Amino acid sequence: MDIIERIKDVASLVKKYNDADLYREIIDLEAEALALAKVNLDLQRENMELKDKLRVIKGLKFKRPLYYAEDDEVPYCPVCWEKDQKQIHLQCIEHTVRYRCLVCDSYFNLEKERPFPRSHNGGINFSRR
Ligand SMILES: [Zn+2]
Repeated sequence: MDIIERIKDVASLVKKYNDADLYREIIDLEAEALALAKVNLDLQRENMELKDKLRVIKGLKFKRPLYYAEDDEVPYCPVCWEKDQKQIHLQCIEHTVRYRCLVCDSYFNLEKERPFPRSHNGGINFSRR
């Protein structure tokens, strides 16, 4: 039996004794317990969301210079992730070699021998060392 049900039971008992002040106290107590139950529910929901986020964060692995999630071959933008904790999949320009972030406009070249030209609009050029 939860606390709200118990308070209602006590309220029923108190009502039999016809003590208005005590009954009012029990009703106030019930309202406070309901408010606390709502706060508890909100906290549980928030905790679940944070646990989900943490699970995703733990799932991202840094393989220089990009981040990868388990069972996902499309890398995530390290600029967006490290700056704003946003998980943004990179757009592949050349299969597994060159990527672009459509959000921050960074460019990534994973081929050391073939440097990718710097973006004309200020994007960042990364290359593996
Ligand atoms: Zn980005």
